[in-house]
Amino acid sequence: MSNAFKHDFSDQVPAHKSRTRLPKTKGLKIPHLHLPSPRWYPLFGALAGFIFILLFIGGAGQDARARMSIEHTEWLTADVSTVNNQSPQERLVRVQSGDNAVSVLTRLGFTRTDAHYIVNAAKSSYKLKNINIGNAFKRIDSNSGTDVFYNIDAKKQLYLHQNSGESNWQSKIQKRQILTRHRLATGAIHGSLFASAEKAGMDQRTTMNLVEIFAWDIDFARDIRSGDSFRVVYEERFDDEGNMLESSIFAAEFVNQGKKFESVRYLNAKGKVDYYTPDGKGMQKTYLKAPVKFSRISSRFRTKRKHPILGYTRAHRGVDYAAPSGTPIHALGNGRIKFKGWKSGYGRFILIQHNTREHSTAYAHMRSFARGIKKGTYVKQGQVIGYVGMSGLATGPHLHFEFRSRGRAVNPLTVKLKHPSAPVPKSEMAHFRQQTAPLMGMLKDATHDQSWG
Ligand SMILES: [Zn+2]
Repeated sequence: MSNAFKHDFSDQVPAHKSRTRLPKTKGLKIPHLHLPSPRWYPLFGALAGFIFILLFIGGAGQDARARMSIEHTEWLTADVSTVNNQSPQERLVRVQSGDNAVSVLTRLGFTRTDAHYIVNAAKSSYKLKNINIGNAFKRIDSNSGTDVFYNIDAKKQLYLHQNSGESNWQSKIQKRQILTRHRLATGAIHGSLFASAEKAGMDQRTTMNLVEIFAWDIDFARDIRSGDSFRVVYEERFDDEGNMLESSIFAAEFVNQGKKFESVRYLNAKGKVDYYTPDGKGMQKTYLKAPVKFSRISSRFRTKRKHPILGYTRAHRGVDYAAPSGTPIHALGNGRIKFKGWKSGYGRFILIQHNTREHSTAYAHMRSFARGIKKGTYVKQGQVIGYVGMSGLATGPHLHFEFRSRGRAVNPLTVKLKHPSAPVPKSEMAHFRQQTAPLMGMLKDATHDQSWG
């Protein structure tokens, strides 16, 4: 059955999209980024688990050809364009098996004589005998001369420069450049969240971050509807090869079924970053809105339905999250594992007793339990406790979830959550407003200030 899912999703989130390369954008000048198709396996590999999740997220919606009302804006910080040259010629090649520095440099268009000369010139800074397969060499020819870069590792590079009209090269080791891009993305949902966010130009990592920020307010697995909308001000950081390093949201708005949620990032006096509502309330609550981040379809909490296997009508006192087998299941809140094991129709089952004592949450039909989860274990909110499966009485992989109050399953929507995370301290409110007001302003206003950085 997991194959069926794969077929559904592959056409919506192509694998190459998951590499989070800097998208080519009209009017965006980044001289360092006109590269041939790269292979950046280390980054790709590090994101493998993440991408696994993303491969089915695209399928969470109903319409592969999601139509969008998009409006997005982007601008760059001043430090991005360091080559003040009209049209520098740039080439990038990667070290292949059997290569030496000379063979790579000749692929960049240098003669063998020049290549030897460059290797010699580099010696005082870095011995080009030590080059690694997959690492990039880059050549930039501009009015001022020729630059050669060899990316030694993720942080540093060998830099060689030859002034035009001269024959000698200077070499040094330097930090690799980081490119920062600030964007405002806005869109409405027609289809899946991920398809819609992608149409708005958002990288999947940014969308994930958006989901994380509102995880206490919005059930992204069940409650996203066509017509929901979002606005996000964020920063992307890229390395000099165009690979995204990270994406951070500064301010975000999500309108879910007519209800507006807003959040803004704040760096507090102690140097800690967290998200708050625009008036300084904490985003976190006692319970997450959902135990899975994404799902395909859902059955709502109700008291009667026909059991799909047993055939007779029996109360369904929970919420089903149909999700691909293996989807991580997160503890809704802090608590202790009260039961872990096989429980007849529930299959592999976990019951968490939450700190309030009054509340517990139940998770059924798991394929497997997460490592280290035992009866009596204390788990934290958001911690992965197991993976979606179809153990017990289930026709397909899904999570059967129950929120229980004093042992009885209740509709989680009716549970009032009274314990939001700590607000911004009164003493910091002035600072909070000063820092976040411009971000909220950018969120509201599509005509942005170019100099913002
Ligand atoms: Zn169920």
